[in-house]
Amino acid sequence: MSGHPSYRIATIEGDGIGPEVTRSAMAVLAEACGAGRLDFVMVPGGAGHYQASGEVLPEETLKACRELDATLHGAAGLPGATYPDGTEVGNELHLQLRFKLDLYANVRPIKLLKGVRSPLRDFDAGNAGRGIDYVIVRENTEGLYASRGAGVLLRGEVASDSLVVTRKGTSRVARFAFDLASKRGGALSDGKQRMTVCDKANILRSYAFFRSVCEEVHAEFPGVEIDYAYADAITVHLLKRPDFYDVIVAENMFGDIISDLGAATVGGMGISPSGEIGDGHGLFQGAHGSAPDIAGRDLASPVAAILSGVMMLRWLADRHGDPALGKDADRVERAVESVLEAGDFVPTDLGGKTRCSEMTQAILGALA
Ligand code: ATP
Ligand code: MG
Repeated sequence: MSGHPSYRIATIEGDGIGPEVTRSAMAVLAEACGAGRLDFVMVPGGAGHYQASGEVLPEETLKACRELDATLHGAAGLPGATYPDGTEVGNELHLQLRFKLDLYANVRPIKLLKGVRSPLRDFDAGNAGRGIDYVIVRENTEGLYASRGAGVLLRGEVASDSLVVTRKGTSRVARFAFDLASKRGGALSDGKQRMTVCDKANILRSYAFFRSVCEEVHAEFPGVEIDYAYADAITVHLLKRPDFYDVIVAENMFGDIISDLGAATVGGMGISPSGEIGDGHGLFQGAHGSAPDIAGRDLASPVAAILSGVMMLRWLADRHGDPALGKDADRVERAVESVLEAGDFVPTDLGGKTRCSEMTQAILGALA
């Protein structure tokens, strides 16, 4: 044992490519952090587990996620897994964890790594471009997803869902985003720290309220510039001048949409990590779903899962005042980037032929 503290990680492999990419991330993280630093506690859950046992999120799994230091999740969802009433189980596991652990900030870094081509030519690193490096913070517990499961369909004619924006829900996610912008320390080329509020304040009262609460919280962060963008306009800006952005906070549905758009500009879902964070818990998983079309064939890219592990290490390092763990995270990120930059191993979703297991070995080999 090293003299460093160790961390217990509730680990849910889940469905589809979940097990393959989770095992890859576990191998890389364990190697980077050294023996005894991380204890992966395997717990069941997901659509496949529902088919086998009748439970999506077993009590023991929820308990582990609540009590251990962090949660690492593969992916949830299987085509054909349905409840007795015929509705899809889908990624219910993930949704339940989100609400039960109150993971209100869904953090999606959008960063163009060396060796990855961006479809945006002016920003492509291979083209000596300006680079892309910003973070989307998606509100994860309310907004347009608040009526989850409780939307109504009237006589087969009219359907409605509700958009809920609360002061509590907005101020905590805004505070998280401003704090992140202040800690990123001016990642922008102009040296500024900027937090952009993405909404539709011109059309809907709920979004106007979202904006006004963000504005109020801004008073606590005088060093960070506040900026506003309508959700439709930002889809254009994220393609034309992504280097303007530092941190973006968005209502749940808008955050979902612009995160996928952002991911597409830096190589896609197979490379994009995510962290869902609340005051007491953090859950980390790749931004992609369970990709059943390629599951079990060693074709998935483990990069998103590994980079989600990097986010987990940084979150733990911060929370527990453990800078050594932060350095291990940096080493994993550098190893991933060096493999992608060398170009000998290219995952399938980036147009190559490298298998999940080969990519894992290459990244393990690159860990300095
Ligand atoms: P969800 O409903 O959970 O968002 P989805 O149906 O949107 O899932 P994903 O599983 O995210 O779909 O992926 C869409 C497609 O992208 C997959 O079918 C797969 O072909 C490809 N893909 C996703 N993740 C990866 C990965 N890690 N490596 C390689 N290809 C991937
Ligand atoms: Mg999807």
